Amino acid sequence: CGIVAYIGKEQAFPIILKGLKRLEYRGYDSAGIAVLNDDSSLNNYKRSGKVSELEEFAAQHDSTGTVGIGHTRWATHGLPNNINAHPHVSSDGEMALIHNGIIENYDSLREELMSRGYVFKSETDTEVLIHLIDDIKKNEQVKTAEAVRIALNSVIGAYAIVVLSKDNPNQLVAARKSSPLVVGIGKDGAFYLASDATPIIEYTNEVVYMEDEEIAVVDRNDGLRIFSIQDKEKVPYIQRLELK
Ligand code: GLU
Repeated sequence: CGIVAYIGKEQAFPIILKGLKRLEYRGYDSAGIAVLNDDSSLNNYKRSGKVSELEEFAAQHDSTGTVGIGHTRWATHGLPNNINAHPHVSSDGEMALIHNGIIENYDSLREELMSRGYVFKSETDTEVLIHLIDDIKKNEQVKTAEAVRIALNSVIGAYAIVVLSKDNPNQLVAARKSSPLVVGIGKDGAFYLASDATPIIEYTNEVVYMEDEEIAVVDRNDGLRIFSIQDKEKVPYIQRLELK
């Protein structure tokens, strides 16, 4: 339902939390945020219920880190509970993913991944994405962005996704099809990703509205790059929003 992600120099958790609160008007049944801290721990907090309940829960734990992804879920596949809430983490704990939309061929993808040894924890359609990306990454020996690209070529359905990977703490990988995703270009090399511009406008008026079957890589060193899922690099079309 709602997506907010951040990479930059500031603490990610409070920015993402505030962003998720701005998206509450869309309706949701659970919320979650994963942040990567300076010791390379990927801390993933998920709660059914309000964003404020997630806030209270996470306050008792380490939520430090300058890169993170957050989600408010409107359940389509699987009950609204803590396990089905996003982010979903890979079996080895190395990657986390959030997803808006519906994966229509999740059943056949899940069967294939189960036959390859993947164990599913949730009842969501979303979980196939994280295992599929993980499988491709390991088999093809490619980086996360390339694994996401290859994975999306076998996905049918609607998605806006953001992936955070421990092996590249300087980068977030996002993609969309039939579900909106906006990239905000912040100050000092910071980037924001969100399902609409509402959580972004207080930080920057420079945005890129992603198009269908596009992958955006936001990187602390390389900035923003956009590719099609057929691997054609595109020139980002930066729009300036009128700030109120
Ligand atoms: N289909 C996914 C799920 O049920 C995502 C739903 C959403 O867009 O929030 O977990």
